[in-house]
Amino acid sequence: RARQSADGRFAPSPTGPLHFGSLLAATASYLQARSQGGHWYLRIDDIDPPREAPGARDDIPRVLEAFGFQWDGPIRYQSQHLAQYHAAIRQLLDAGLAYPCACTRREIREQGRQGPDGPIYPGTCRHGLAPGREGRAIRALTRNARIRFQDALQGTIDTDLEANMGDFVIRRADGLVAYHLAAAVDDGSDDIGEVIRGIDLLPSTPRQIHLMQQLGLVAPRYGHIPLALSPGGQKLSKQTGALPLDPSQPGPQLFQALRHLRQAPPDHLARASLPEIWQWAFSHWQMKALAGQDRTGEAVAVASD
Ligand code: GLU
Repeated sequence: RARQSADGRFAPSPTGPLHFGSLLAATASYLQARSQGGHWYLRIDDIDPPREAPGARDDIPRVLEAFGFQWDGPIRYQSQHLAQYHAAIRQLLDAGLAYPCACTRREIREQGRQGPDGPIYPGTCRHGLAPGREGRAIRALTRNARIRFQDALQGTIDTDLEANMGDFVIRRADGLVAYHLAAAVDDGSDDIGEVIRGIDLLPSTPRQIHLMQQLGLVAPRYGHIPLALSPGGQKLSKQTGALPLDPSQPGPQLFQALRHLRQAPPDHLARASLPEIWQWAFSHWQMKALAGQDRTGEAVAVASD
């Protein structure tokens, strides 16, 4: 089952200012949704207060507005939906699809196999806590979970979640809801048809689809865009990619974003007004230009089909 609507979203975490990589993800998801007549939503993933940068949750909408983005409806703040996330965790616990885990980071490092994405949880607490030990985090059970999906840009992704990633945390030891759980609840809602985001998040997707399946939600379609390539194919340096966006000069940055997204905007567009750039972008958007450019999803097995 997959969703049909073209509705999309951009979901930044307020851990710092939006940067050029954020602009690429925002622009691609916006153009992909809007060019097909879909809605586009803004979600602020503010469920990790210790990592939040002061002011970022207010700066993000301001900067997006300066770049000409128009989202539908009110901004969704994840921090306002904690009850929903905790209910989902409860649902998984009650169904035996999640369990409390007493292991410390250090124990996992010492006992777990090393995976592409960090140590793989060895399953110590799967069958209950050892006497005298207390649950810290809550993990999702990945027993026999094989996740297969068709990425609009990266082809077929087929991964053995249990072997490659292992049981993962859905409620952290500090009591906070983990990103995968909150993202699964939100992206698995009827509002979202297609998630377009950076390829750095590709390893997250099988976990999120797994949670949606366990929660009885329908997964959206996915497309993971290469974030690191410039039009000539060279890597966008960390430095350039992490440079905060300058809301006083949106046009040239949007033009650069379109070039990085391989839309081949004509040179004169670099000096055009913001509405003109957007108009060109809407009528020329070709997500396919981004297909097969960069497969850096090392953490997932990519099937050749
Ligand atoms: N908020 C997360 C991030 O900024 C997730 C984004 C997403 O799922 O698109 O990395």
